[in-house]
Amino acid sequence: NQPLCECNTCYGGPNCSLFLSNCSADAESGDPYFLEPFWMGRAGSSGILVSGWHRMGYTYSDGSLMSEMLVKGIKKLHQLVGNAIITNASFIIFGSGATQLLNAAVYAFSPNSSLDSPAKVVTTAPCYPVYRTQTQFFNSRDNRYEGDTSIWKQNASRVNATFIEFVTSPNNPDGKLTKQILNGSNVKTIHDLAYYWPHFTAIPSPADEDLLIFTISKLTGHAGTRFGWAIIKDEGVYQRMSSYLNLNTIGVSREAQLRALKLLDVVLEAYAWVKCEREEDGNCYEILKAAKIEGREGSLYSAEDRYVRLSLIKTQDDFDILINYLTKLVHQE
Ligand code: PMP
Repeated sequence: NQPLCECNTCYGGPNCSLFLSNCSADAESGDPYFLEPFWMGRAGSSGILVSGWHRMGYTYSDGSLMSEMLVKGIKKLHQLVGNAIITNASFIIFGSGATQLLNAAVYAFSPNSSLDSPAKVVTTAPCYPVYRTQTQFFNSRDNRYEGDTSIWKQNASRVNATFIEFVTSPNNPDGKLTKQILNGSNVKTIHDLAYYWPHFTAIPSPADEDLLIFTISKLTGHAGTRFGWAIIKDEGVYQRMSSYLNLNTIGVSREAQLRALKLLDVVLEAYAWVKCEREEDGNCYEILKAAKIEGREGSLYSAEDRYVRLSLIKTQDDFDILINYLTKLVHQE
């Protein structure tokens, strides 16, 4: 009587339909399983197969520890979503999840001379506990966890030490869009934007602060892949974070980067905005319709009739049928 599927802990029986009345509701961990059905519908297009000989070395062929294609994918993603500004002068760095980047950023902002006072790491309650636990655990002589920002709100700029303020927006646990609290040239901020995606919050404007941290854990739901990235304005901060990552793990696992690249490819397929190039074709919507492809007229989007919007974000079956009819149409032409 083994179940045919992997059941939620509260369900049993051969098809997971039997509610187990003695079980408690599990509302504890932050595993983003609500995205699982999306990926189940794209099981084929989101899968990767890695041959035994693939990427055995420490570096990519250009000597780097980061996939250039993945950097490009991340830039494209932010441009499409509009949740972060990346300029030609920005630096991007990968980490084993946001978790590794959080401490790399604390290290990068801390003084590198034992003559300076340790940096004061601060947060605003209620806040994600890892900022505190991680800083205390690594117990560096260059930084110390100093509690809530409210204690320093009035006088941070007069204190002879660097402040490192974590700003989480939307905040974990209360979901609020937050801003930096402390002011002064001695205040450095780490913007943890793990949840700054349209499926968690409205995006009022693209983030443009000095150091932004994102993670695939909350973007696609793949927390186990352990992949995050930071967007950094200052080259010195980027160099110090790079040193930390190189010494800590020699960069992020190449398999994790490959998987992240594949997942972003799927995320980046949004809609297809198709143009029938030949003038004589006229109404593109009608041409596709005659080929059994139902799209949406360009005129609905205030564009010409030569444009059609095709949805690519439905099920794998819908996508396969679409590709099949498109292929037939192209062959007829
Ligand atoms: N920042 C916040 C606010 C989080 O909630 C989490 C995960 N719960 C993380 C960072 C850690 O993300 P990752 O899985 O990429 O290490």
